[in-house]
Amino acid sequence: MIALKDNLGSELVERVRGFFSEKGPLSKAKNFEFRPQQQEMAARVAQALEEEQHLIVEAGTGVGKSLGYLVPSVLFALEQHKKAIVSTHTINLQEQLLHKDIPILKKVLPVEFEAALMKGRQNYLCPRRLERALQSEQELFTGPERSELQRLAEWARTTRDGSLSDLSVEPDPKVWAQVCSEAHVCTQKTCGQTCRKNGRAGSCSRMISLFSMKRTRSSR
Ligand code: SF4
Repeated sequence: MIALKDNLGSELVERVRGFFSEKGPLSKAKNFEFRPQQQEMAARVAQALEEEQHLIVEAGTGVGKSLGYLVPSVLFALEQHKKAIVSTHTINLQEQLLHKDIPILKKVLPVEFEAALMKGRQNYLCPRRLERALQSEQELFTGPERSELQRLAEWARTTRDGSLSDLSVEPDPKVWAQVCSEAHVCTQKTCGQTCRKNGRAGSCSRMISLFSMKRTRSSR
């Protein structure tokens, strides 16, 4: 671990300390209480960001680590006009940050910010590959795999974001491998400029246009 200097006192560090302080906005929020270890961790994260240093933190359950790194990251990114990237070991933790911790922060942090979930490309359905797989299903798949492909095709019509975590039952890996997004397929040549994997984090723009069509139809 790279040791940090002990003079914790920059404006950002003080802002972060204040946010986590006994009388700060977080302590006043519903279901939260002052946790000195969390405040210390957040201040250290803020300092490491400012000093462009690496930091390793070991903290037990109940310290509130997620907010301990999210708050300084959000404030630092806004101050520097940069993006903060939080890389997690599991997609479940990513989703917890996005659906639980970040909505809380949006209510209690006195700043406005946006957050998006980004997963690896192979976590997303590729509508083009799905179409092709359906056209060649007799040659590519066994009977049970064809049923699985039909299930995925049904799901593709209603999915929120086309990502694996939106599927209630994990797909057959062999079938999914034939329909997920792949870098060598997702090129300007194969899909054209208007259908590249871009826009909303993770989802391909072809998928996004399907969502838009669904919304337009259902809103009529
Ligand atoms: S943009 Fe990429 S992911 Fe989307 S349909 Fe085209 S090839 Fe597939």
